[in-house]
Amino acid sequence: MTPTPRPVLTTADLTVGYRSRRRSRVVMRQLDLVAGAGEFVCVLGPNGSGKSTLLRTVSGAQSPLEGEVRLMGRDLGGMSAADRSRLLATVLTDRPDVGLLTVDALIGLGRHPHTGWSGRLSTNDLEIVRRAMDEVGASHLRGRMFSELSDGERQRVFIARALAQEPLLLLADEPTAFLDVDGRAEIMALLADLAHDRHMAVVTTTHELELALDLADRIWLLDGEGGCTVGSPATVVGDGSVARVFTRAGAFLDRRGPPAPGPGSLP
Ligand code: ADP
Ligand code: MG
Repeated sequence: MTPTPRPVLTTADLTVGYRSRRRSRVVMRQLDLVAGAGEFVCVLGPNGSGKSTLLRTVSGAQSPLEGEVRLMGRDLGGMSAADRSRLLATVLTDRPDVGLLTVDALIGLGRHPHTGWSGRLSTNDLEIVRRAMDEVGASHLRGRMFSELSDGERQRVFIARALAQEPLLLLADEPTAFLDVDGRAEIMALLADLAHDRHMAVVTTTHELELALDLADRIWLLDGEGGCTVGSPATVVGDGSVARVFTRAGAFLDRRGPPAPGPGSLP
Protein backbone atom coordinates (compact mmCIF):
# COMPACT_ATOMS: atom_id res chain seq x y z
CA MET A 1 0.00 0.00 0.00
CA THR A 2 1.41 3.36 -1.00
CA PRO A 3 1.41 6.08 1.67
CA THR A 4 -1.58 8.41 1.68
CA PRO A 5 -0.75 11.49 -0.38
CA ARG A 6 -0.97 14.98 1.05
CA PRO A 7 -4.65 15.98 1.09
CA VAL A 8 -5.59 18.82 -1.26
CA LEU A 9 -9.38 18.60 -1.03
CA THR A 10 -11.17 17.33 2.04
CA THR A 11 -14.80 17.36 3.01
CA ALA A 12 -15.97 17.07 6.59
CA ASP A 13 -19.46 15.87 7.35
CA LEU A 14 -20.53 17.41 4.06
CA THR A 15 -24.18 17.35 3.08
CA VAL A 16 -24.93 18.56 -0.45
CA GLY A 17 -28.21 19.46 -2.06
CA TYR A 18 -30.56 22.31 -2.72
CA ARG A 19 -32.25 24.75 -0.46
CA SER A 20 -35.45 26.46 -1.41
CA ARG A 21 -37.44 28.88 0.68
CA ARG A 22 -39.49 26.26 2.47
CA ARG A 23 -37.37 23.16 2.60
CA SER A 24 -34.08 21.70 1.60
CA ARG A 25 -33.52 18.77 -0.67
CA VAL A 26 -30.63 16.59 0.44
CA VAL A 27 -28.81 14.82 -2.38
CA MET A 28 -25.94 13.30 -0.38
CA ARG A 29 -25.17 13.40 3.28
CA GLN A 30 -22.27 13.22 5.69
CA LEU A 31 -19.47 12.85 3.22
CA ASP A 32 -15.90 12.66 4.45
CA LEU A 33 -13.92 12.64 1.25
CA VAL A 34 -10.28 13.24 0.43
CA ALA A 35 -8.47 13.91 -2.82
CA GLY A 36 -4.71 13.94 -2.44
CA ALA A 37 -1.87 15.53 -4.40
CA GLY A 38 -1.07 13.45 -7.46
CA GLU A 39 -4.32 11.51 -7.30
CA PHE A 40 -6.75 10.92 -10.13
CA VAL A 41 -10.19 10.55 -8.56
CA CYS A 42 -13.19 9.41 -10.60
CA VAL A 43 -16.69 10.09 -9.32
CA LEU A 44 -19.06 7.36 -10.48
CA GLY A 45 -22.74 6.85 -9.90
CA PRO A 46 -26.08 6.45 -11.64
CA ASN A 47 -27.83 9.38 -13.29
CA GLY A 48 -29.24 11.72 -10.72
CA SER A 49 -27.08 10.33 -7.91
CA GLY A 50 -25.51 13.73 -7.31
CA LYS A 51 -22.20 13.76 -9.20
CA SER A 52 -22.68 17.26 -10.58
CA THR A 53 -24.12 18.55 -7.32
CA LEU A 54 -21.08 17.25 -5.43
CA LEU A 55 -18.64 18.69 -7.95
CA ARG A 56 -20.32 22.09 -7.89
CA THR A 57 -20.23 22.07 -4.11
CA VAL A 58 -16.54 21.26 -3.84
CA SER A 59 -15.81 23.91 -6.48
CA GLY A 60 -17.56 26.52 -4.38
CA ALA A 61 -20.20 27.21 -7.03
CA GLN A 62 -22.86 25.91 -4.66
CA SER A 63 -22.94 26.10 -0.85
CA PRO A 64 -23.01 22.97 1.30
CA LEU A 65 -26.25 22.31 3.15
CA GLU A 66 -24.09 21.23 6.08
CA GLY A 67 -20.46 20.55 6.80
CA GLU A 68 -17.33 21.87 5.20
CA VAL A 69 -15.21 21.76 2.09
CA ARG A 70 -11.52 22.43 2.71
CA LEU A 71 -8.84 23.26 0.20
CA MET A 72 -5.33 22.81 1.54
CA GLY A 73 -6.88 22.84 4.98
CA ARG A 74 -8.70 26.15 4.47
CA ASP A 75 -12.47 26.41 4.51
CA LEU A 76 -13.59 27.03 0.94
CA GLY A 77 -16.61 29.00 2.08
CA GLY A 78 -14.43 31.59 3.77
CA MET A 79 -12.12 32.08 0.79
CA SER A 80 -12.27 34.95 -1.65
CA ALA A 81 -13.03 34.06 -5.26
CA ALA A 82 -9.51 35.19 -6.16
CA ASP A 83 -7.87 32.89 -3.60
CA ARG A 84 -10.06 30.06 -4.71
CA SER A 85 -9.17 30.45 -8.37
CA ARG A 86 -5.48 30.28 -7.53
CA LEU A 87 -6.03 26.88 -5.95
CA LEU A 88 -8.72 25.22 -8.01
CA ALA A 89 -9.65 25.20 -11.67
CA THR A 90 -12.73 23.81 -13.34
CA VAL A 91 -12.87 22.29 -16.81
CA LEU A 92 -15.99 23.42 -18.60
CA THR A 93 -18.05 20.79 -20.30
CA ASP A 94 -20.95 22.70 -21.76
CA ARG A 95 -20.39 24.44 -25.04
CA PRO A 96 -20.00 28.08 -24.10
CA ASP A 97 -20.12 30.76 -26.74
CA VAL A 98 -16.64 32.15 -26.39
CA GLY A 99 -16.87 34.35 -29.45
CA LEU A 100 -13.95 35.07 -31.67
CA LEU A 101 -11.10 33.98 -29.48
CA THR A 102 -7.96 32.25 -30.59
CA VAL A 103 -6.88 29.13 -28.77
CA ASP A 104 -3.94 31.00 -27.26
CA ALA A 105 -6.11 33.83 -26.01
CA LEU A 106 -8.58 31.46 -24.44
CA ILE A 107 -5.88 29.51 -22.61
CA GLY A 108 -4.35 32.84 -21.59
CA LEU A 109 -7.57 33.65 -19.74
CA GLY A 110 -6.52 30.96 -17.30
CA ARG A 111 -3.72 33.30 -16.15
CA HIS A 112 -6.17 35.92 -14.89
CA PRO A 113 -6.08 34.90 -11.24
CA HIS A 114 -2.34 35.53 -11.35
CA THR A 115 -2.10 38.68 -13.45
CA GLY A 116 -2.76 42.17 -12.14
CA TRP A 117 -5.91 44.11 -12.86
CA SER A 118 -4.75 44.86 -16.41
CA GLY A 119 -4.84 41.18 -17.33
CA ARG A 120 -1.66 41.73 -19.32
CA LEU A 121 0.35 38.55 -19.76
CA SER A 122 4.04 38.67 -18.88
CA THR A 123 6.72 36.62 -20.61
CA ASN A 124 6.37 34.16 -17.75
CA ASP A 125 2.59 33.96 -18.23
CA LEU A 126 3.05 33.30 -21.95
CA GLU A 127 5.54 30.58 -21.16
CA ILE A 128 3.03 28.96 -18.78
CA VAL A 129 0.38 29.12 -21.53
CA ARG A 130 2.78 27.52 -23.99
CA ARG A 131 3.60 24.74 -21.56
CA ALA A 132 -0.09 24.10 -20.85
CA MET A 133 -0.74 23.74 -24.60
CA ASP A 134 2.17 21.35 -24.87
CA GLU A 135 1.01 19.22 -21.99
CA VAL A 136 -2.45 18.64 -23.44
CA GLY A 137 -1.09 18.00 -26.93
CA ALA A 138 -2.60 21.17 -28.37
CA SER A 139 0.51 23.02 -29.56
CA HIS A 140 -0.51 22.53 -33.18
CA LEU A 141 -3.70 24.48 -32.47
CA ARG A 142 -1.80 27.68 -31.72
CA GLY A 143 -3.37 30.63 -33.53
CA ARG A 144 -6.51 28.74 -34.54
CA MET A 145 -9.96 30.12 -33.75
CA PHE A 146 -11.54 28.26 -30.87
CA SER A 147 -14.93 28.19 -32.59
CA GLU A 148 -13.46 26.16 -35.44
CA LEU A 149 -12.14 23.30 -33.33
CA SER A 150 -13.54 19.79 -32.97
CA ASP A 151 -15.13 18.78 -29.67
CA GLY A 152 -12.03 16.80 -28.70
CA GLU A 153 -9.74 19.72 -29.49
CA ARG A 154 -11.97 22.09 -27.54
CA GLN A 155 -11.84 19.85 -24.50
CA ARG A 156 -8.03 19.83 -24.63
CA VAL A 157 -8.04 23.61 -24.83
CA PHE A 158 -10.34 23.87 -21.81
CA ILE A 159 -8.03 21.58 -19.89
CA ALA A 160 -5.06 23.71 -20.94
CA ARG A 161 -6.84 26.81 -19.73
CA ALA A 162 -7.41 25.14 -16.37
CA LEU A 163 -3.72 24.17 -16.25
CA ALA A 164 -2.69 27.74 -17.00
CA GLN A 165 -4.27 28.62 -13.66
CA GLU A 166 -1.64 26.35 -12.08
CA PRO A 167 -4.19 24.87 -9.70
CA LEU A 168 -3.59 22.30 -7.02
CA LEU A 169 -7.04 20.88 -7.68
CA LEU A 170 -8.62 20.37 -11.09
CA LEU A 171 -12.33 19.57 -11.28
CA ALA A 172 -14.17 18.30 -14.35
CA ASP A 173 -17.81 17.32 -14.75
CA GLU A 174 -18.29 14.76 -17.51
CA PRO A 175 -15.41 16.10 -19.61
CA THR A 176 -15.86 13.36 -22.20
CA ALA A 177 -19.60 13.78 -22.69
CA PHE A 178 -19.43 15.01 -26.29
CA LEU A 179 -16.51 12.89 -27.45
CA ASP A 180 -16.24 9.74 -29.53
CA VAL A 181 -14.79 6.54 -28.09
CA ASP A 182 -11.16 7.35 -28.88
CA GLY A 183 -11.55 10.91 -27.67
CA ARG A 184 -12.99 9.74 -24.37
CA ALA A 185 -10.11 7.38 -23.71
CA GLU A 186 -7.57 10.07 -24.62
CA ILE A 187 -9.05 12.71 -22.35
CA MET A 188 -9.36 10.33 -19.40
CA ALA A 189 -5.75 9.19 -19.85
CA LEU A 190 -4.64 12.80 -20.14
CA LEU A 191 -6.36 13.71 -16.86
CA ALA A 192 -4.72 10.76 -15.11
CA ASP A 193 -1.30 11.73 -16.48
CA LEU A 194 -1.75 15.36 -15.41
CA ALA A 195 -2.60 14.31 -11.86
CA HIS A 196 0.51 12.16 -11.70
CA ASP A 197 2.94 14.41 -13.59
CA ARG A 198 1.86 17.71 -12.07
CA HIS A 199 1.24 16.20 -8.69
CA MET A 200 -2.14 17.87 -8.43
CA ALA A 201 -5.45 16.40 -7.40
CA VAL A 202 -7.78 15.77 -10.35
CA VAL A 203 -11.40 14.94 -9.63
CA THR A 204 -13.69 14.11 -12.52
CA THR A 205 -17.20 12.77 -12.78
CA THR A 206 -17.69 10.29 -15.57
CA HIS A 207 -19.93 7.69 -17.11
CA GLU A 208 -16.87 5.88 -18.39
CA LEU A 209 -16.92 3.01 -15.94
CA GLU A 210 -14.27 0.92 -17.67
CA LEU A 211 -11.87 3.80 -18.16
CA ALA A 212 -12.37 5.04 -14.63
CA LEU A 213 -11.69 1.63 -13.14
CA ASP A 214 -8.57 1.32 -15.30
CA LEU A 215 -7.14 4.77 -14.66
CA ALA A 216 -8.33 6.13 -11.33
CA ASP A 217 -6.27 6.02 -8.17
CA ARG A 218 -9.43 6.43 -6.13
CA ILE A 219 -13.12 6.02 -6.85
CA TRP A 220 -15.89 7.96 -5.18
CA LEU A 221 -18.87 5.75 -5.89
CA LEU A 222 -22.22 7.43 -5.30
CA ASP A 223 -24.90 4.91 -4.51
CA GLY A 224 -27.89 6.97 -5.62
CA GLU A 225 -29.32 6.92 -2.11
CA GLY A 226 -27.30 9.69 -0.58
CA GLY A 227 -24.24 7.64 0.32
CA CYS A 228 -20.79 7.26 -1.15
CA THR A 229 -18.28 4.41 -1.08
CA VAL A 230 -14.62 5.29 -1.45
CA GLY A 231 -11.77 3.04 -2.44
CA SER A 232 -9.28 2.00 -5.07
CA PRO A 233 -10.82 0.55 -8.25
CA ALA A 234 -9.77 -2.93 -7.11
CA THR A 235 -11.51 -2.43 -3.77
CA VAL A 236 -14.82 -1.11 -5.05
CA VAL A 237 -15.00 -3.80 -7.74
CA GLY A 238 -13.76 -6.56 -5.46
CA ASP A 239 -16.19 -5.90 -2.63
CA GLY A 240 -19.14 -5.81 -5.01
CA SER A 241 -19.92 -2.10 -4.51
CA VAL A 242 -19.74 -1.22 -8.21
CA ALA A 243 -21.94 -4.11 -9.27
CA ARG A 244 -24.43 -3.34 -6.50
CA VAL A 245 -24.78 0.33 -7.38
CA PHE A 246 -25.09 -0.13 -11.11
CA THR A 247 -27.27 -3.21 -10.97
CA ARG A 248 -29.68 -1.48 -8.67
CA ALA A 249 -29.66 1.49 -10.98
CA GLY A 250 -30.68 -0.86 -13.78
CA ALA A 251 -27.53 -0.14 -15.71
CA PHE A 252 -26.00 -2.91 -17.73
CA LEU A 253 -22.67 -3.79 -16.25
CA ASP A 254 -20.29 -5.34 -18.70
CA ARG A 255 -17.08 -5.53 -16.76
CA ARG A 256 -14.30 -6.64 -19.06
CA GLY A 257 -15.02 -9.42 -21.53
CA PRO A 258 -12.38 -11.91 -22.62
CA PRO A 259 -9.04 -10.25 -23.36
CA ALA A 260 -8.58 -9.12 -26.94
CA PRO A 261 -6.00 -11.17 -28.82
CA GLY A 262 -2.68 -9.37 -29.02
CA PRO A 263 -0.78 -8.96 -32.30
CA GLY A 264 1.30 -12.02 -31.46
CA SER A 265 -1.72 -14.28 -31.31
CA LEU A 266 -2.87 -13.65 -34.88
CA PRO A 267 -2.82 -16.75 -37.01
P1 ADP B 1 -25.82 13.52 -11.58
O1 ADP B 1 -24.84 14.56 -11.99
O2 ADP B 1 -25.22 12.39 -10.80
O3 ADP B 1 -26.63 12.98 -12.73
P2 ADP B 1 -27.14 15.73 -10.24
O4 ADP B 1 -26.14 16.21 -9.26
O5 ADP B 1 -27.31 16.52 -11.49
O6 ADP B 1 -26.88 14.18 -10.57
O7 ADP B 1 -28.54 15.66 -9.53
C1 ADP B 1 -28.72 15.05 -8.26
C2 ADP B 1 -30.13 15.30 -7.78
O8 ADP B 1 -30.31 16.69 -7.53
C3 ADP B 1 -31.20 14.90 -8.78
O9 ADP B 1 -32.25 14.30 -8.08
C4 ADP B 1 -31.62 16.19 -9.38
O10 ADP B 1 -32.95 16.15 -9.78
C5 ADP B 1 -31.43 17.17 -8.25
N1 ADP B 1 -31.13 18.53 -8.74
C6 ADP B 1 -30.21 18.87 -9.66
N2 ADP B 1 -30.20 20.21 -9.85
C7 ADP B 1 -31.13 20.71 -9.01
C8 ADP B 1 -31.61 22.03 -8.72
N3 ADP B 1 -31.10 23.11 -9.32
N4 ADP B 1 -32.59 22.17 -7.78
C9 ADP B 1 -33.11 21.09 -7.16
N5 ADP B 1 -32.70 19.83 -7.38
C10 ADP B 1 -31.73 19.63 -8.30
MG1 MG C 1 -24.23 15.32 -13.81
